[in-house]
Amino acid sequence: MGKVLMIGAGGVATVAAFKINKNADVFTDFMIASRRKEKCDEIVKAIGNPNIKTAQVDADDVEQLKALMRDYKPEMVINLALPYQDLTIMEACLACGCHYLDTANYEPRDEAHFEYSWQWAYKQRFEEAGLTAILGCGFDPGVSGIFTAYAAKHHFDEIHELDIVDCNAGDHHKAFATNFNPEINIREITQKGLYYKDGQWIETEPLEIHRTLTYPNIGPRESYLLHHEELESLVKNYPTIRQARFWMTFGEEYLTHLRVIQNIGMARIAPIDYNGQKIVPLQFLKAVLPNPQELGENYEGETSIGCRIRGVKNGKEQTYYVYNNCKHQEAYKETGMQGVSYTTGVPAMIGAMMFFKGLWRKPGVWNVEDFDPDPFMKELNKQGLPWHEVFGGDLEL
Ligand code: NDP
Repeated sequence: MGKVLMIGAGGVATVAAFKINKNADVFTDFMIASRRKEKCDEIVKAIGNPNIKTAQVDADDVEQLKALMRDYKPEMVINLALPYQDLTIMEACLACGCHYLDTANYEPRDEAHFEYSWQWAYKQRFEEAGLTAILGCGFDPGVSGIFTAYAAKHHFDEIHELDIVDCNAGDHHKAFATNFNPEINIREITQKGLYYKDGQWIETEPLEIHRTLTYPNIGPRESYLLHHEELESLVKNYPTIRQARFWMTFGEEYLTHLRVIQNIGMARIAPIDYNGQKIVPLQFLKAVLPNPQELGENYEGETSIGCRIRGVKNGKEQTYYVYNNCKHQEAYKETGMQGVSYTTGVPAMIGAMMFFKGLWRKPGVWNVEDFDPDPFMKELNKQGLPWHEVFGGDLEL
């Protein structure tokens, strides 16, 4: 018996819904709820299973969430709305006795800043309620932490250097578009960079540090150092790590557009007064940019995301690279969505599957690397995200 309520009906949620539907032996009852019920109904229509229930909910409102959870009585809530809603959904889960899973850590609307402290503060309350909360179970964060946990379990006595490398070598044939929610994406990329070295966090200017890295089946791509949320939990959970960094590829065209967007003030998140109306420029920009959910049809190429790790095994220095490549067209054929939604939605479903199978179940608030990576790694291979390993190769970093 696996009764699940998924909140959100965007690109990631659509992929997770397809995968939940395909694993009906685990997920016996399924409801999709979002700000606009019609978006949930569209997903059900695309899947073609009328047994999936839908509902309208404003996930910023704890009382509405509680009413929905009390009515539907899910065992677990999968939060695939936006990072702004993490705390309200966690509050409602505590009030209604529901387990919780998400793919992105909490971010306040009025400050482009993310860190785990807000959600980790719920640990004791989830423990006392006997409820499991699984944080950051997409690809990065998510699979990046599971890859690290798998490396630590099987291939290293000590991890010393961790580089998470995220390449999207796809072409959607638009002048400028983001691959997931534009507002969240632009807030993330325009922040200062941050990495961990010898017990300190080192801040950089946005996109200041970059290198050319070679990705399997893709080739060389310029890769930029960004702050990314999983670094915070990974350096805490693996204290032998001396250096931890996150790299993401961007093309020249993308960076030029981003620079213009910033220079003309369209990336601002503070409201402005426009003809007597309050408008947040970045939210207005989101409304005119291509919808990431509609990029799939003409998207060519693939993503490649992995962990490059240096450390010690049996007294010898060792390098290890574990990665997945995902083709946008294959993701589109299966789910109607592009590869970035696919690589996030599939792990969210697998995390929930781990919970329902009793493999990832412990009261408290946890990051993915706090659980056994082995059954999750097996499912990645079965559910459309196969991974590969390189031992002793040149990490380029
Ligand atoms: P979308 O913007 O496509 O989808 C978000 C969905 O949440 C939309 O259906 C939206 O409703 C709904 N929503 C927004 N606000 C509310 C609200 N107040 N109440 C109820 N529903 C609401 O985003 P994505 O699908 O691209 O991303 C989903 C999540 O996944 C985000 O948190 C994102 O940060 C995360 N992510 C994680 C990644 C990882 O690897 N870990 C990678 C990519 C994304 P409406 O349709 O009406 O706007």
